[in-house]
Amino acid sequence: MSTALEHMVELTRSRDRELVDASLLTALLDLLPSTRRVLLWRVLGEPGQPQQWLHCGRQDRGDLVPATELQLGDQGEPPAFATMPAHARCFASVQMLTEPLPDGVQVLVPMASEREVEGVVELWLDAPLDAQGERLARSVLKIHRNFLSLLEYSERDTLTGLLNRKSFDETFLKATVLEAERLFTSDADPRRHAGLRHHFLGVIDIDHFKRVNDDYGHLIGDEVLVLVARIMRSTFRYDDRLYRFGGEEFVVLLTAPDDEAAGAAFERLRLNLENFVFPRAGRVTISTGYSDVRPGDTPQAAFDRADKAVYHGKENGRNQVCSYRELVAAGLLSESSDSSDVELF
Ligand code: GH3
Ligand code: MG
Ligand code: MG
Repeated sequence: MSTALEHMVELTRSRDRELVDASLLTALLDLLPSTRRVLLWRVLGEPGQPQQWLHCGRQDRGDLVPATELQLGDQGEPPAFATMPAHARCFASVQMLTEPLPDGVQVLVPMASEREVEGVVELWLDAPLDAQGERLARSVLKIHRNFLSLLEYSERDTLTGLLNRKSFDETFLKATVLEAERLFTSDADPRRHAGLRHHFLGVIDIDHFKRVNDDYGHLIGDEVLVLVARIMRSTFRYDDRLYRFGGEEFVVLLTAPDDEAAGAAFERLRLNLENFVFPRAGRVTISTGYSDVRPGDTPQAAFDRADKAVYHGKENGRNQVCSYRELVAAGLLSESSDSSDVELF
């Protein structure tokens, strides 16, 4: 088998997006011999809103494995779109660009599907790509995009575009267990652990949604669901995970320094919704319950705690954010001993 084909096999082997990205970097470095470095940038934010560059991966010639988003660690605030003008031009024009570097050239390749541009791949080369190299780079990127589209299709809810329930368990475990493992094994310095961000899981349920359907019809109900998802996307951080769990119930998995900060994020969403006038349904509110994610938690155990908190909110007036921890501390909920047990059978 040729090297190019071997890379295609590798690129489509895993269902893990980070590994798919990693295979892309390795393939480009390997197939374009004068490349010294490959970087992967994705654009965050909706068109027309402030956009930013998210650094999703990097590999230098000689590196055994690429560094992906998770390995690059906490990168702070992603750079604003305008601070990388050549990348911005490549992104906007959807054209490959070649720029001089002190000791070679930088080639920027747009990552695009038929429908949208997703980001830019940055190549550092000794010399510009010839026609064959350009074709190869474009083809590898196309296969990468097609494969990611297939993965995303199976992970997302078709109405709102949020992650679906099916992908929850996998991403929950990856986001919590693997990240904790990485932090605790790769960094023995306890001072860094002081700034550790914890995971919180929130369950969000639209209040009296049945009335929206009854009063305005199912289609207007669907429109509300789509708009709620959009407001969620613009409220939470780019690395928070947003799911539609079915019906008018949503789940958010986010990181925050403590319970209070997580509560503030959910409160922001509650206010954004309370203040939004839906084109046809008018005002719609939500109730939210959230809990910290605990070591050894199963996805179900964390969900159950948050769900108890949302139930409390429903019973006590709706349109509010309830913290499981606070409710237990106040004696309003009892800590269930069985919720964190792993079910073996
Ligand atoms: P509560 O404040 O207690 O949450 O009241 P509710 O009316 O929101 O709760 P309930 O669970 O009784 O009703 C949820 C409704 O959501 C019932 C169902 O018709 C509607 N629903 C579920 N999935 C969809 C959907 O995909 N589209 C639309 N339009 N409605 C849906
Ligand atoms: Mg409801
Ligand atoms: Mg419900």
